[in-house]
Amino acid sequence: MAEAPRRDFEATNQMKAVMGKYFTELTQGPEQGKKTAWCTSVGPAELLYALGYNVYFPENHGAMLGASRMATDLIPLANARGFSPDICSYLTSDVGSYLKGESPIQKMKLPGPPKADVLVFNTNQCRDVKDWFQFYAREWNVPCIGVHTPRSIGEIDQTLVDYIAGQIEALVEPLEKVAGAKLDPDRLREVVALSKECTELWKQVLLAGANKPAPITFFDGTIQMGPAVVLRGTQDAVDYYKILVAELNQRVADSVAAVEGERLRIYWEGMPVWGKLSSLAKQFMELKTSVVASTYCNSWIFDALDPSDPFRSMARAYSSIFICRSDDFKEQYIRRMVEQYQIDGILYHDAKTCPNNSNCRYEMPQRLQQQLGIPYLVVNGDLNDLRLYSEEQTRTNIEAFAEQLLGT
Ligand code: SF4
Repeated sequence: MAEAPRRDFEATNQMKAVMGKYFTELTQGPEQGKKTAWCTSVGPAELLYALGYNVYFPENHGAMLGASRMATDLIPLANARGFSPDICSYLTSDVGSYLKGESPIQKMKLPGPPKADVLVFNTNQCRDVKDWFQFYAREWNVPCIGVHTPRSIGEIDQTLVDYIAGQIEALVEPLEKVAGAKLDPDRLREVVALSKECTELWKQVLLAGANKPAPITFFDGTIQMGPAVVLRGTQDAVDYYKILVAELNQRVADSVAAVEGERLRIYWEGMPVWGKLSSLAKQFMELKTSVVASTYCNSWIFDALDPSDPFRSMARAYSSIFICRSDDFKEQYIRRMVEQYQIDGILYHDAKTCPNNSNCRYEMPQRLQQQLGIPYLVVNGDLNDLRLYSEEQTRTNIEAFAEQLLGT
């Protein structure tokens, strides 16, 4: 079937409204007597929503600082305060934003991020999140509690699930104390059920990229993932993704390509370069190359969630994410993705300030190239600190990579 011309997603306006409502309620919550919990992106959000908290995700704020390009000016403020330029640039840009009192949320004509009454981390992704939250806990003299998850996990066994579930359960009492409310087990099951529904819909969104031509790219995904990150466990996220999935199904039926004339399909491994998403998307579009899948966007798929067993299923889901798994698991995962999405080449983003989500430093690209027989490219850059990214060099390297792939 011939390809139909590309249109922007009609659902995006709806997504903007959903995110606008989230930020409005989040920033107005404290005035209405709601307590605010800060939560890491793969922290126990379901528990916090079930307890009636305003739930705020600083990594989402970090991404906004990157995408709005405010980060590069703000990072030096955190460096001057004692946070190294080599550590997570979400952390340094967010701390810089706090020190300067400037946030992209203010551009929505809302007050900045709400002050935390409690900060809740999960170290499944890195240690930086705990250090980041402890900074604010000291600033505001509020509790900072969380889950310590091991890294480089192979198989998820019962011992691990018990260990993590026990830590999540231990959060209930201190969280009830701050919230001034008791946890209702039925409400928790309801929130986990909504989270599960959200995750299943988000998975369908990303799986649409497996179609040829792909109706959605990684760059669309980084925009569309907002509700899956900050609103999982709510009806708003579920309602939104139902609309987006319907639109994507229609695109597939009509053979609408996200990249017209798609001739190459790439897998993006690692963090986005938030401040350069639109120029990268444009370059790939010009090269008729579709970035059809990524580890990053898939990190918000939590297959294991189960409302009939909330604590243990949260433990399993949050310990199953790619970032905290062993290299053997990661290789197997990428091999499956390459096959499922019919990938021609893999691009690894080596993000200078996020070694935790850069998987090209221990020979993985070479091993996978040998196993899969497809080329790879390593792009040096960063998620937020654009001083670590050379636009010219990246452009040239991507161009050469596309030529190489066309020649193979
Ligand atoms: S995983 Fe990387 S980007 Fe995310 S908080 Fe940790 S260091 Fe920062």
